[in-house]
Amino acid sequence: MAGGETPAERLRRLGMGRAITRRDFIDGIAVTTAVAASGRALAAAEPEAAPSPPQDRPGYCPPALTGMRGSHPGSFEAAHALRDGAFPKPAATAIDTGEDYDLIVVGGGISGLAAAYFYRAKAGAGARVLILDNHDDFGGHAKRNEFGLGGKIQLINGGTLGIDSPRPYSTVAAGLLNALGIDPVALAAQHADQGLYASLGLGSGVFFDRETFGADRLVKGTLSSSEFLELAPLSEAARRDIRRLETEPIDYLPGLPSSEKKARLYRISYRDYLLDLVKVDPSVIPLYQARTHGEWGVGIDAVSALDVWPFGLPGFQGLKLDPGSAPHMGYTPAGYADGGSYKFHFPDGNASIVRLLVRSLTPQAVPGSTVEDVVTARIDYGRLDRTDNTTRIRLGSTALSVGASGPGDSPEVAEVAYSRMDRLYTTRAKHCVLACWNMMIPYLCPQLPETQKAALRYPVKVPLVYTNVALRNWRAFGALGVSAIHCPGSYHSGVRLNPVTDIGSYRSPRSPDEPILVRMVRAPCYPGMSERDQHRLGRADLLTTSFASFEEKIRNQLGRMLGPGGFDPARDITAITVNRWPHGYAYEYNPLFDPDWPKGEAPHEIGRARFGPIAIANSDAAGAAYTDAAIDQAHRAVEELLAD
Ligand SMILES: Cc1cc2nc3c(=O)[nH]c(=O)nc-3n(C[C@H](O)[C@H](O)[C@H](O)COP(=O)(O)OP(=O)(O)OC[C@H]3O[C@@H](n4cnc5c(N)ncnc54)[C@H](O)[C@@H]3O)c2cc1C
Repeated sequence: MAGGETPAERLRRLGMGRAITRRDFIDGIAVTTAVAASGRALAAAEPEAAPSPPQDRPGYCPPALTGMRGSHPGSFEAAHALRDGAFPKPAATAIDTGEDYDLIVVGGGISGLAAAYFYRAKAGAGARVLILDNHDDFGGHAKRNEFGLGGKIQLINGGTLGIDSPRPYSTVAAGLLNALGIDPVALAAQHADQGLYASLGLGSGVFFDRETFGADRLVKGTLSSSEFLELAPLSEAARRDIRRLETEPIDYLPGLPSSEKKARLYRISYRDYLLDLVKVDPSVIPLYQARTHGEWGVGIDAVSALDVWPFGLPGFQGLKLDPGSAPHMGYTPAGYADGGSYKFHFPDGNASIVRLLVRSLTPQAVPGSTVEDVVTARIDYGRLDRTDNTTRIRLGSTALSVGASGPGDSPEVAEVAYSRMDRLYTTRAKHCVLACWNMMIPYLCPQLPETQKAALRYPVKVPLVYTNVALRNWRAFGALGVSAIHCPGSYHSGVRLNPVTDIGSYRSPRSPDEPILVRMVRAPCYPGMSERDQHRLGRADLLTTSFASFEEKIRNQLGRMLGPGGFDPARDITAITVNRWPHGYAYEYNPLFDPDWPKGEAPHEIGRARFGPIAIANSDAAGAAYTDAAIDQAHRAVEELLAD
């Protein structure tokens, strides 16, 4: 860091003035859309001929957009206006599409697309299905980011990465993968990373930042090694206690049977375990604080010691805990509980599963026929919502009201009002699956029983950011000998080179001289509060942080970490995509803050009850943040609707 520079000089040094791909274009859209999507604008809209929807325009390709993605500008304003009471009663101003469906699905994530798949499988391929999603692309969290770098496309996940879960995939979820042609075990054997980075001498490291640790220093290696501890800017007391914690098999709960130890660990945070039972020096805590960010979205103050034990955090070696899963994550020290699930991921993460699902629902939009060729297939978005499709996928469409009409206690028709391009529309179907987020449902269906609405409001989804940065080359990573860096005190707590996956005609970069994508992960946390309160504040943080602010922090962090390896943020960063997920992972109950509900009485179980022709899917309905849970819930919802 240059000393004594002015703010303007600092911004110039970081490269804030540099043109990076399409940022201004995205922000331009953000401004116009955000203004136009207010309830007042909709109320005033005239039912004149609607302009052609963006998805029908030539060259439409949302995965190639950079800038603020994930919950991108234009995707959430209508829903927030509904929350804030800014919408008029839909019937007053809505345009009737005149369309009639067998099924309307609200939410085009994996759960919504799987619901359409299961419905057609059971009701017949001729069933007419409409899928509405508020984003400009399908897939929900399972989004794809594409970058054109050095004349080639490079892919990375914008959200959901892996076909993995703490639990084995159910017959239903594994069956869907199988029907789509995905064999995760065979794919892992054929296409998984063959250890390229390790073969080049690159490993893991920790970036100590001066604000937290008193000095900026990137140290290669792991915490258990003496060389690492020698180089780390830590006090002698911290070094001594980390060495003990990482390497000595001490029983910190002597005299108790394993079951009682587990019961104690279940209700104590890992932070308190380290401080009160392991009795580490408090200066040790900042080094471990963010180790749980990526998986839980909160720090070790809000994750139970029992949950982190099987996840590989230290301090349990001497406790001799019996094997068996921690209640929430399902991991065991030997891996996943009961064998767990798979390990494979596509270059764009589970966006390829989504693309295979979309191919099965609207084959005309997704060329090709194999699991391999879907990775590089060019989607024809203009074919997703044609009148002659049996399944139509309508993007940029936010459902605002879902009602049920028909005789007495057994209404037979679901009526859905949605906003799209500043207009309000109504349409109807025999059945509706709400594959959207739980907390949205009470606004969509105010007629639900109060207990059900309260249950739906209970979970607070986990806010997360997956930032993807395109670099001119990765020589600095090579020079520093790292491919993955944990950054416990920094804005993004994890940084890693895009994993290597070759599949079909797609090839990952091989040489440090080639351009590459780097993944950075941020979980906005507020240590000391309950998990749900931390998520509420984190959500607000993500929604109020501008892209320019993200960009400055990204440039600053990468410059400080990689500068000693020759990295120059102004020269070496060519594009940035911030995948912002204010409503990220489904909330999984936390033993530190939530009671153990009796079976059938947990909020997600009460919340997912069928209401006439409306059933509820989404991973929230499982209380589990995994792809298999999203698929299983889709199947249950469709079975409920078609049981009669
Ligand atoms: C950053 C991140 C990483 C993850 N990584 C993994 C992973 O590696 N492996 C894994 O198994 N799981 C992962 N998950 C969990 C992931 O959420 C699930 O795997 C799964 O994709 C959830 O699918 P879903 O369809 O239930 O929900 P979503 O993907 O959230 O889809 C729901 C869709 O409904 C839309 N919607 C909401 N309200 C409305 C409305 N009113 N009108 C129209 N549309 C609406 C939403 O915007 C969204 O597009 C990750 C999640 C995140 C956020």
